[in-house]
Amino acid sequence: MTDPDILVVGGGLHGLSAALHLARTGRRVRVLEARQVAAQASGYSAGGVRTLGRHIAEVPLALEAIARWHRIADLVGDGCGFHAAGQVRVAETQAELARLSERVARLRVEGWAHEELADAATVRRLLPAVAPHVVGGIVTRRDGFAAPLRTTLAFARAARAAGAEIAEDARVTTVERRAGLWQLRTREGELHAAPLLLNAAGAWGGRIARAAGEPIPLGFNAFQMLLTDALPPFLAPVVGAAGRPLSFKQSETGHVMIGGGHKGHADLDTGDVRLDVPRLAYSARTALDLFPILRDARIVHAWAGIEGVTPDELPVIGRSAVADGLVHAFGFSGHGFALAPLVGEIAADLLLDGVSRHPIAAFGPARFGQPGAVSETRSALLQPAG
Ligand SMILES: Cc1cc2nc3c(=O)[nH]c(=O)nc-3n(C[C@H](O)[C@H](O)[C@H](O)COP(=O)(O)OP(=O)(O)OC[C@H]3O[C@@H](n4cnc5c(N)ncnc54)[C@H](O)[C@@H]3O)c2cc1C
Repeated sequence: MTDPDILVVGGGLHGLSAALHLARTGRRVRVLEARQVAAQASGYSAGGVRTLGRHIAEVPLALEAIARWHRIADLVGDGCGFHAAGQVRVAETQAELARLSERVARLRVEGWAHEELADAATVRRLLPAVAPHVVGGIVTRRDGFAAPLRTTLAFARAARAAGAEIAEDARVTTVERRAGLWQLRTREGELHAAPLLLNAAGAWGGRIARAAGEPIPLGFNAFQMLLTDALPPFLAPVVGAAGRPLSFKQSETGHVMIGGGHKGHADLDTGDVRLDVPRLAYSARTALDLFPILRDARIVHAWAGIEGVTPDELPVIGRSAVADGLVHAFGFSGHGFALAPLVGEIAADLLLDGVSRHPIAAFGPARFGQPGAVSETRSALLQPAG
């Protein structure tokens, strides 16, 4: 096996997107994935692709990413099930509508016009089945959704076709920097070494960072989803609510997917998740309040996926503040699916050139406070990832 130029920890969307971008520059890339490609958040995602409601710091990335989604087949050779069906965030009270209006005005001041304020009649035209109490909302026309597993596998296929190696069942347990090389040992005892390392380990990104000598605070959550049986088509855009957690969409097959931030339970050591049924019921009630048409729908499936969540709920994307040749891209806090086509390029540029042309200052690993610089790290035993 030829030694790679770059090691990537994590075979989720972000690690694979970076591997694809890196391999296309002719570099030798090896992805080490503890389980299988798409085994964690990327495979369980709701697949919402939105610029709507992004934190101001994320808006430029989200706008650039949506442009890439509109030509995703050019990047990965597969449409990824992307539908530019738009997204709508509904207001249920005048106070919520006033807040949405302030947001749209603030975005206009920054020069962004992708979020449009919509009155009740416009929302009803877009969502004919919405409950009568909805008073308006925000609309983003170019947003939509894609198929998470299909997307992640498409990135893996494209990365392999470009020459990247993807090693599955390769759980990294130790990270060391010695003589200018990152040396990673897997649970099976295999040693992998390269001058450059990308930490794209999702909810386990904090553990990889700590092992590399750079503690970065990272929590995690089990985001939960519900799926109903197939209903006649009644909804095209993805729907969220201004006043309560909701993400709601109907697929081409008629199944309705309901999520929105009600968390289950997760164990980072084993990778196990446990659903929180009362919270799932709360999500279902919210969906029913907004779409009474769901009255007779049956829930046929529920699941949860583990996602890393940072203290400010913004991802960590940037060069290590303490060690050479290390870049982080993890902790997407529940909204990283949409950004993946772009973050892979950013990570590749940071590894190869040390800079990105995209505005990423808000995501730097040092923003939570850092220890002093280290030139070498000693082997640190990681707890196993899920
Ligand atoms: C239920 C759910 C719904 C979501 N809905 C949306 C949405 O609608 N829109 C949106 O934009 N985002 C959404 N997200 C968030 C989005 O899916 C994630 O931000 C994104 O998939 C994160 O990708 P990742 O590559 O960073 O992490 P992951 O996909 O978790 O990949 C990280 C990988 O690293 C591997 N790993 C960890 N430790 C090690 C180790 N020691 N050695 C080797 N490998 C290791 C893991 O096995 C894992 O496969 C949702 C997430 C969930 C869970």
